[in-house]
Amino acid sequence: MTRSANPLLLALLGSPVSHSVSPAMQCAALEAKDLDGIYVSVQVGAADLQSAVRGLAVLGFRGANITLPYKETILPMLDSVSDDAGALGAVNTLVIDRDGAGQARILGHNTDHLGFLAALDQAGCPLRGSKALVAGAGGAARAAVFGLIRARAAEVVILARRPTQAEKIVRDFATSDTRLRLSRLESRELMAESETASLLVHATPTGMWPDIHDSIWPDACPMPADLTVFDLVYSPADTKLSRQARVSGARIVSGLEMLVRQGAHSFRLWTHEEAPIEVMRNAARSAIEERT
Ligand code: NAP
Repeated sequence: MTRSANPLLLALLGSPVSHSVSPAMQCAALEAKDLDGIYVSVQVGAADLQSAVRGLAVLGFRGANITLPYKETILPMLDSVSDDAGALGAVNTLVIDRDGAGQARILGHNTDHLGFLAALDQAGCPLRGSKALVAGAGGAARAAVFGLIRARAAEVVILARRPTQAEKIVRDFATSDTRLRLSRLESRELMAESETASLLVHATPTGMWPDIHDSIWPDACPMPADLTVFDLVYSPADTKLSRQARVSGARIVSGLEMLVRQGAHSFRLWTHEEAPIEVMRNAARSAIEERT
């Protein structure tokens, strides 16, 4: 790697950050592209978030990822946000630009919904005019619903155990093109809605390590074989829900792919270079396997 006087400094801010695979993925990408840079994870308390963000600008950082629990609270601390991040109400990527006088401006972007759509696109899953189910109503579900609206799905059913969050998604994203509907995240409703859907997006932590034997889909009940199942849980990479889908002959999209693709979009925003997807996927997979 060629060392420069001006290395690319990147960070991950959140709390906690120790579990994140982004450092492994982004460092591998920098190395593969022979870019002199570093990506460090920094645990930041809520009271210090604003100082930490401004500190990045002062220290010459080029950008950062923002993870839980700050994706929403960071918005008012930034100089501007992209249209998508503003509409989503969440930022996962900062780009720090400098003008000719060296004055820094901190811009907020969101690449989660782009990663979500890129993973489905790569799997060859058409969304326009389709009916999709989204199980869960947290941050990942919000990004998924936003992505599905952007892709002009005809109908999105949000299945949640607690209606309040889901109702807020419907209120925030009400649009004339995509019909948004709510249902309960119960086996009966899930199976009935799946009969007429082409995509099931799972956006709750059910089945996440160490609870790898859990699934939102009931045991011994086959899924419709023409369903595509996109489990956003990526740790483990092969979840129980994915295995149930495979046994039923349904198509599977991996949460790992969304993780990699959102990271690739962030990498492009910082470097203006194509991201080495394969390298990032391998690094993310290895980091997940080491942890589980
Ligand atoms: P979050 O904001 O905390 O939301 C979690 C959602 O799941 C909430 O609606 C919550 O409902 C619901 N939930 C939690 N436990 C549940 C259970 N046992 N049964 C039914 N519903 C339950 O979390 P998030 O950021 O959206 O993340 C959700 C999952 O997506 C996590 O596994 C995360 O790792 C994954 N994710 C993946 C990617 C990716 O790139 N692949 C990106 C982001 C997130 P209540 O309000 O009722 O608790």
